[in-house]
Amino acid sequence: MAKDISTTTIALVTGANKGIGRAIAIQLAKDHGYTVIIGSRQLSAGEALAFELKSQGYDATSLQLDLTSDESIANAVTTIEQQYGRLDVLINNAGIFLDSTTPDAPALPTRELFERTFATNIIGVACLTDALVPLLRKAHGKPRIVFVSTSMSSLTNATNKGTIYYNINGTAYDSSKTALNMLALNYVRLLEDVGGRINIACPGLVATDMTGHTSFGTTPEEGAEHIVGLATAGEEGQNGTFSGKQGPIPW
Ligand code: NAP
Repeated sequence: MAKDISTTTIALVTGANKGIGRAIAIQLAKDHGYTVIIGSRQLSAGEALAFELKSQGYDATSLQLDLTSDESIANAVTTIEQQYGRLDVLINNAGIFLDSTTPDAPALPTRELFERTFATNIIGVACLTDALVPLLRKAHGKPRIVFVSTSMSSLTNATNKGTIYYNINGTAYDSSKTALNMLALNYVRLLEDVGGRINIACPGLVATDMTGHTSFGTTPEEGAEHIVGLATAGEEGQNGTFSGKQGPIPW
C-alpha cells in the first residue's frame, strides 16, 4: 500500500534498474522506509524492481529517465511534481564508462568518447538536478543530494603514481567525474539557504556491468552502503564532502 506522502521521505535514484543504483533503491526502501522513485532508461526494467519492492510491502514507483533526453527529464520532473509535489532526496547515480581500458578493446574516436561520456555523466546530471531544484526546495527538512563519483576523479590521486589505479585509462570517465564534483559543490552553494546536504560519494570498486563484474570488486549492496548513509543522515549530516567508505577522499 502506498504510504502517506505527507510523512514519508521521497527519494529519486537514477540508474536504479541495476548495479549500485538498484542496491541503493532497495536499501532506501527496505532499511529506511523511504518512498523510492526508480529512475531507469528502460521503463520495464524499473517497473520490475518497483513491483518486487511493492509486493514485499515497500513503497516504490518507477519513472522513465534518460539523462541524455531533455524530453525524458522534463516528463520525469512533471511526474514527480504531480505525484508528490516535492522531492526530499536525489541520488545522482547513473553513469557510464566508455574508455578503452585494455589495448585489445577498440577505442571510440576521441570526440565521440568525450561527447557521449559527458552527455550522461555531467550534462545530463546537471540538466536533471537543475530541473529538480524547485521540488528539492520544497523538501521536508533539508534537501539531500548524493552525487555518485569515483576516487578516480581526484586530482590529488591522479598526480600520485602510487595510486592503485594510476595506470587504468579513464581519460573521459575520470574527467567527467571531476566535473561532476565541481557541479556538486555548486549545489552546496545554490541550496545553502535551505540547508541543503549535498555530498559526493565513491562506492569503491564494485562488481557490476560497468566493471565487467570484476572479482576484485565488492557487491553492489556494499557499494551502496556509504551512499545510503549520506542520503539518510539526519538534519546535521555532512555537507560539501567527497568521501568513500574509508573516509574523506582528497579533491
Ligand atoms: P552499471 O551497473 O553499469 O549501472 C549504470 C546505471 O546507469 C544503469 O542503470 C544504466 O541504465 C544507467 N544509465 C546509463 N546511462 C544512462 C542515461 N543516459 N540515463 C539514465 N541512466 C543511465 O554501473 P554501476 O557500477 O552500478 O555504476 C553506478 C555509478 O557508480 C556510476 O555513476 C559509476 O560511475 C559509479 N561508480 C562505480 C564504480 C564501480 O566499481 N562499479 C566505482 C566508482 C563509481 P541501463 O541499464 O539502461 O544501461
